[in-house]
Amino acid sequence: MSAKNENAARRRTHGHSTAADLKASAAPGPAPSSAFVEVPNSKQFYIGGKWVDAVGNAVIDVANPATEEKIAEVSIGNATDVDLAVAAARAAFPSFSRTTVDFRLKLLRRIAERYEARQDDLAKAITAEMGAPLQFSRDVQVKAALSHFRNAADTLQAYGWASTLGTTRVVREPIGVCGLITAWNWPLMLVTSKLAYALAAGCTTVLKPSEIAPLSNLILAQVLHDAGVSPGVFNLVNGDGPGVGHALCAHPDVDMISFTGSTRGGIEVAKTAAGTVKRVHQELGGKSANIILPDANLAEAVPAGVLRSYSNSGQGCLAPTRMLVHRSQLDEVIELARNAANTVVTGDPQDSQTRLGPLVSQAQYDRVQGYIQSGLDEGATLVAGGLGRPTGLKRGYYARPTVFAHVTPDMKISREEIFGPVLSILSYETEDEAIAIANDTVYGLAGYVHSGSLEHARSVAAQLRAGRIYINMAFNDMISPFGGYKQSGNGREYGVVGFEEFLEIKAILGYEAA
Ligand code: NAD
Repeated sequence: MSAKNENAARRRTHGHSTAADLKASAAPGPAPSSAFVEVPNSKQFYIGGKWVDAVGNAVIDVANPATEEKIAEVSIGNATDVDLAVAAARAAFPSFSRTTVDFRLKLLRRIAERYEARQDDLAKAITAEMGAPLQFSRDVQVKAALSHFRNAADTLQAYGWASTLGTTRVVREPIGVCGLITAWNWPLMLVTSKLAYALAAGCTTVLKPSEIAPLSNLILAQVLHDAGVSPGVFNLVNGDGPGVGHALCAHPDVDMISFTGSTRGGIEVAKTAAGTVKRVHQELGGKSANIILPDANLAEAVPAGVLRSYSNSGQGCLAPTRMLVHRSQLDEVIELARNAANTVVTGDPQDSQTRLGPLVSQAQYDRVQGYIQSGLDEGATLVAGGLGRPTGLKRGYYARPTVFAHVTPDMKISREEIFGPVLSILSYETEDEAIAIANDTVYGLAGYVHSGSLEHARSVAAQLRAGRIYINMAFNDMISPFGGYKQSGNGREYGVVGFEEFLEIKAILGYEAA
């Protein structure tokens, strides 16, 4: 592959997959080998360059959502564990922040190499802890996470750290100790989109992964150790939100929190962090609209929209869960959507034919069932799927790939983030009405537009109040800004803007002779 092509492939590695990804992952891959990989340090934390025992004795069970069986016990930290990790990160900051760009480039590339060598273990751990089909974990989850180390290195290499404004020098410096708090649905990728850029910037870090899917990150910690990350530069403390998460956000020696999770969690984090005026970066929930304009190719746009909303078993912040179609095309769209939903193979994540695995937990299953019930109660038309497990599946948190039509903007299934494979089809009469419905949400993470005319799609894209717009299901771009308007967050990840989130700005006046 030429350097140019390799670069393009890296930019397009699919963090949050598209329908094209689902199709690509349908190609037969290697047969799944063993169902799980042992994670030896699950009861320990990684602090100051060593695996250490937790201060307390609290543990949490990690269950495989496909079998509902316990697969590991993980220690749950407390404020003392957080103090130790933050102290290690603080102690490491003066020297790490002054390392050269070349030093950090080599470090990021070593991490990427070590990571590549553990890809199979990482994929197995993700599938076991949150239920993504193994092939999707291998081809998409793990590779998307890897792309951030490489993209952060490229960004660092090209970055201009200082500029002159009259007699003033404006310089950028690493912000300091960063607390990284993440969700379970992309357990590694959500971490590396923060960690890789924080390390590139010269920051030191304390990670608290999701307590629901913590295993792959224990392997990541070993990857970083094996790559020679200096003691204290990366630390990991497992725990829950009210315990470790809260302690990290409140800690006076933490300079920044980068958070990915629910809008509810993000609000709590911001309130706690306000007490010490730390920077808060938030990547939160979404309820994205997918506007299919009348001049779109329906036979392509509708199945692509259905499959995209089911990506990662519907547990995606970017999922286009509100499909907006012209009233005159509704009947045709319903048929296309029904056919697309009915082709989705739901089942064992170890099976290479599976496209939709289980939801992550009993709680998530119950929540999704509650939304399906509310769609029925509020009078939406059930087009595919519905309540309960798919036929033949007796255990595991499997939901049926579901489509509702005749959904109105006031219905709960149209307003709230479901985080499961439930698509709502709404109809519009005019383009202005479609845009108004799309923007009538507290969220603003993503938007999708389908049209036969690029110019037409662009004009609608310009009117959507969301941070990432996909025209005709464009490939994901892992280097262009990622983040939301409104209650979907603050700040951006990926590429140069993601990198700059981890920097402070210093103006040195009188730097040049007047
Ligand atoms: P969550 O908010 O329940 O938890 C996320 C993380 O925050 C976990 O590590 C949790 O322990 C921690 N946490 C919870 N309460 C906290 C508190 N008070 N203080 C500090 N930390 C706290 O979210 P979840 O259920 O893990 O993830 C699903 C949500 O994440 C969805 O809303 C989804 O849209 C969102 N998400 C957003 C993005 C994005 O990039 N915008 C990506 C993935 C997921």
